[in-house]
Amino acid sequence: MKLEIAKWKDNAVAPVIFMVDDIANIAMKQSNSSSLQIGEDWGHYGRDKSSMWDFLSKNLLDKFPKIKTTFFLVTDKRAPMALGEEYTYNKSIIEDKKFIDFLKYLNSNKNVELAYHGTTHGKASVKHEKFLQEWETFSSLDKAIKEIKRGKELFKQAIESYPTGGKYCGYEEGNFGSDSISKSAFKWWAYHWDGIIWDKNSKDKKYNYDLEFNQGVVDIPTTVDGSTLSLRIFKKLFTRKYLKSLYMYIIKNKTIERHIESLYQNQQVISIQEHSSPYRTDGKIQYPNIVSDIDNLNYIFTLLSKKDVWYATCDELADYFIGRSHIEISMENDNTFKLISKIFNMVETTLTIKDNKNLYALYDNNDNFISEFKVKKNNLYLTYDFNTNISYKINRIYNIS
Ligand SMILES: [Zn+2]
Repeated sequence: MKLEIAKWKDNAVAPVIFMVDDIANIAMKQSNSSSLQIGEDWGHYGRDKSSMWDFLSKNLLDKFPKIKTTFFLVTDKRAPMALGEEYTYNKSIIEDKKFIDFLKYLNSNKNVELAYHGTTHGKASVKHEKFLQEWETFSSLDKAIKEIKRGKELFKQAIESYPTGGKYCGYEEGNFGSDSISKSAFKWWAYHWDGIIWDKNSKDKKYNYDLEFNQGVVDIPTTVDGSTLSLRIFKKLFTRKYLKSLYMYIIKNKTIERHIESLYQNQQVISIQEHSSPYRTDGKIQYPNIVSDIDNLNYIFTLLSKKDVWYATCDELADYFIGRSHIEISMENDNTFKLISKIFNMVETTLTIKDNKNLYALYDNNDNFISEFKVKKNNLYLTYDFNTNISYKINRIYNIS
């Protein structure tokens, strides 16, 4: 019997994360209509009809109830794309009771995680192209840490807890990125747009589809652009995004389906990237966004629903990774073992046994039955909250051959 620690919880082949950037206390009207139209809300309208949340839940999350969504929250009044421009509505997250209630509602939903995404998102300039992303504006490590602290306090005032992780604005780390994150007590962070490996064939070693530590913080990769259309999304035929997918297919032999399948086969992180709204202050459509990409997202999650994946928040993913990175199995005899850890007294992890002839169960050291191993494709697995101070036993319960 060979006992191992599974790479992912419940011995799933790969984890799936759904990241939505730029939820904020913002609305950006495009139409002249007095009522709210789809896409005009970045979060400000909470659970109202046609709000960001109303659209996303009705058109995606209700259809795929296993999806876990991580929203990246801009905490203070956000900067416009260029000087002189303004959002229709734009306030800090603690300005309105309705928005605070909405954040609390999201935070109480087990399938939703709120994460940190700066205070203002950056600094506007005369031209859009000159917009400085938030971490690029920091002139010292001290200033970066101070501003993160200010943002985290706003976050805490709204939902009564601190964020455990977040993402740089525009994936720009500036000069003090990693240091400022590791010194701000974050558990995890999305440091890069790692899908650039697929998109542009980047060979830069900082991009990676797997989890790793960066100064003690779990680096969660961002691997799939939700606006990379499948060629089967015929509704988008002749759009710029569709033509790009066609180009990638004809010239580079790449499709979104193959990209996802490759991540899956290699047991890497499938993390799908989106924005909360298509509308910016400069009138341009921001991609990816949940409105333009809704058919593509439905297509992607249909593909994933046929696979053995683990839907996780970034925090859950980080916890599992930290757990398995800090434990070892120590066999005391043929069927008795202990999980050894220098930092944990308790750790939830998944153990596997490769055996298609027998079934096993876990017992404590006094022979009290705990749980049977479950069967999945010739593999046995068990997820349990192990105490690292005590020994456990595994007994064969019957032969199935
Ligand atoms: Zn952003």
